[in-house]
Amino acid sequence: MSNELQGADAINTLPELLAHALAMETEATERYGELADQMETHRKAKVAAIFRRLEKEEQAHLVELTHMCSKYELPHYAPWDYKWNTGESPEAIDIGKVSYRMSVRGAVELALVHERRACDFYAGIAQRATDDEVRILASQFAAEEREHIGWLESCLADCGPDDAAIDDPDPPLSQE
Ligand code: ZN
Repeated sequence: MSNELQGADAINTLPELLAHALAMETEATERYGELADQMETHRKAKVAAIFRRLEKEEQAHLVELTHMCSKYELPHYAPWDYKWNTGESPEAIDIGKVSYRMSVRGAVELALVHERRACDFYAGIAQRATDDEVRILASQFAAEEREHIGWLESCLADCGPDDAAIDDPDPPLSQE
């Protein structure tokens, strides 16, 4: 079982689940957006499009989630009190792992790691929660992440062995 699940048994109420989901989806949306912007700056249109699509998907979750959260009093967590063992939420891509040289395949593989972690996090909660509502909602969130995984896997199947060269029409250091 991966690290992200270690704290998952501590989440057993809807407000706790929603607070974690809100933090995770907010961070994921912002991060994918930043990465898409960065890739557009470097004219990596295909890589940018992957991150942009994920940003939109996460954004859609976020809208749904914000609506759900409005019905509850959510607990306030300090950043270190969230029940994930990584410094950041499982779905947020480490910006240091992204470079303008990144290929479409590299971007898809990196996003896959994080989407799988997000899915595992929710699935772990669903597995361990004794509260029915928490179990049902966590399974639904896991299923939504599984859709992202499915889409990314189909992207990966369409990728060549390394398409970096194809998507890099302008070497970044050239002065024209
Ligand atoms: Zn996702």
